[in-house]
This record gives sequence, structure tokens and C-alpha cells, in this order.
Amino acid sequence: MSKRDYYEVLGVNKSTSKDELKKAYRKLAMKYHPDRNPDDQAASEKFKELSEAYEILSDDQKRQAYDQFGHDGVNPSFTNAQGAAEGFSDIFGDIFSDIFGGSTRTRSRSQRGADLSYSVEVSLEDAVKGTSINLDIPSSERCSGTWHQCSHCNGAGVVRMQQGFFSMQQTCPHCRGEGDIHDPNCSICGGAGFIKKNKTLSVKIPEGVDTGDRIRLSGEGDSGKHGNGDLYIQVDVQRHKIFERDGKHLYCEVPINYADAVLGGDIEVPTLDGKVKIKIPEGTQSHKLFRLNGKGIKPLRGGSKGDILVRVLVEIPVKLNKEQAALLRKFKESISSSENTPMKSTWLKSAKEFLKGF
Ligand SMILES: [Zn+2]
Ligand SMILES: [Zn+2]
Repeated sequence: MSKRDYYEVLGVNKSTSKDELKKAYRKLAMKYHPDRNPDDQAASEKFKELSEAYEILSDDQKRQAYDQFGHDGVNPSFTNAQGAAEGFSDIFGDIFSDIFGGSTRTRSRSQRGADLSYSVEVSLEDAVKGTSINLDIPSSERCSGTWHQCSHCNGAGVVRMQQGFFSMQQTCPHCRGEGDIHDPNCSICGGAGFIKKNKTLSVKIPEGVDTGDRIRLSGEGDSGKHGNGDLYIQVDVQRHKIFERDGKHLYCEVPINYADAVLGGDIEVPTLDGKVKIKIPEGTQSHKLFRLNGKGIKPLRGGSKGDILVRVLVEIPVKLNKEQAALLRKFKESISSSENTPMKSTWLKSAKEFLKGF
């Protein structure tokens, strides 16, 4: 069977950025994810195709090779000898932890318990200052009843199979990678092999986290034959009413009074520690940017604190009464174009030059 073009599979074009690529993949992967389409072979094929396309195109080197040589230039980890499970679980852990909100489980290769992944939303204030949250996590513990070695894989948890030129390694379907089979009549767990338990964890969200950061809690995943998996907390910082975040800097827009813009004055601007006053010089034009040094965010991975950037928007007064309008008309008559409105007079000069040509 000939393969479809990876870009076509993801419904994007060659110039698509990495971010857009990820978005496109997420959208489609949500639709075709096996959890949402149980026993649907077509969806499962589609999901595999998507994952393969994303695996190649999300890797700069592989994408370049693919652009240059097409399918011949790349070798997705699905078909290479190391086996399907590896590449797949990496992508899975990376992408799906935050898609499904709740937990996703990835069976670990070393027969540790499964890694768990959780996503949490925090406010911008909490992300900047750090906080600690309590999480209720459903996890599972390996049953302490009787186990015996799986005869299908001799306890390895994986089986190899030959397909064409490739030798593929697959999780043993018999013991599902455990290497051991549990007593099906176990009186402790009823034969499932694990016992579900809810646990509450207090998680420290460090100062300066940003959307996409992952916090790893070692050994807090499911328990398995050879120890516990890890728990990953995926952070998602909520949008803020006033500030927009750009890395360690915060950006906001503040409307200012027309008269203050003309005459100069003090205005109040917000910071994450409350209001501060800044001086607006006489003749401040709309959209001028003011910088509050060091009032931004202390980066998680070290370095100097960011700034707050305040863009002032000069508000033109509306609904003037008769008296105000009269004052403004009088003011208008007093305006000298070369002195008081240099921007306009420069523009008029250029316009005159330009119109001479007609
Ligand atoms: Zn087995
Ligand atoms: Zn049991």
C-alpha cells in the first residue's frame, strides 16, 4: 500500500509552523483516538497514520529529510527494529497528557507501574508567584496476591515478531507487558491484578511556570512489578483579564485621558503587586509604550526578572456638552499647524509633493 503524503494526512501545507502542526494533529488525534473509538478498525488505522505523520513532521531533521526525499527519506519509529512501543509512547506522553485533561496511562517498558499524566490550570498570579495545590488522583496499586511467570513471553513482557524485513517488538498481549500473570481467582482484587486507590497529593507549582511546563513527581504514578511509575503534571496558565504574557514579560493596555496625554500627568497602572504611578510626559501620543523595569516575571529556569510593558491608548472624549464643544472649537482655532501638530504638517507636505505628479 502506498503511503499518503504526511502533510495531506494532517491537512496542512508545507509552510505550516510547528505550532500549527501540533494543533492540526491534536484536533485530528482527538477525533480518531482509540479511547474514543473502541473497536473501530478504520479509526485506529487513521490514528496510526496521523501519529506517524506527526512524528516525522514535528521533528525538524526528519521533516527536512521528508521534504527532500519523501517517504524514502524517513523511517518512522513505527517500522524500525526498535519496535512500535517506544516512539509511540513518547508522542503519547507528550501530546495526550494535556488533551484529555484527566489521566493518560502509558505502560512503561521496564515493567514499572504506568506513568500518569495530569493537567492543571493555574491563574497567572499563581504561576508568577508559585503556589501549592492539592490533587486527587485515581491510581492503581499492584495486587499483593499470587503471580506466576507468563509462559507466552517467559516473563519478558515483550514478544518479537517478524514482518517483512523488520523485526518488531511488541508488548506481550498475554500478560500485557507485566511479565507475570495474576491468579484469576484472587480473593484480594478479584483477578484484575491491581487495586484502584485514590490519593491526594500536595503539588508545589514553582514560581515562574508557564503553559507547557511539566512537573515530574517521581514514583507517584501507578505501582508495578518493579516499582512505581512517575506522575507528570502539565501546567496550563489561564488567560488574564488585564495582562498578556510573553515569556517573562507582561503586556497591558491602559486608556488615558486626552488632557493628560496633551498636558502630561500621572497615571495609575496595574502590576501583579498592585497599582503603581507612572509619569506621562507632555504630548504623549496614543499607543506609546512605557516599560516598568523588573516588574514582570522571574523566569522558572533562572535569569533576570522580566518587565511590564504598558501601552497607553489616548481616549478621545465623547458626548461633549455645548460648553465643552465651544471650548474645543475655540481651542481648534488657536492651533498652529507647524507648532502644535508637527505630524500632520509633515504628512501634508508629503501629500502635496505626491499630488504634484497628477
Ligand atoms: Zn507475557
Ligand atoms: Zn489479586
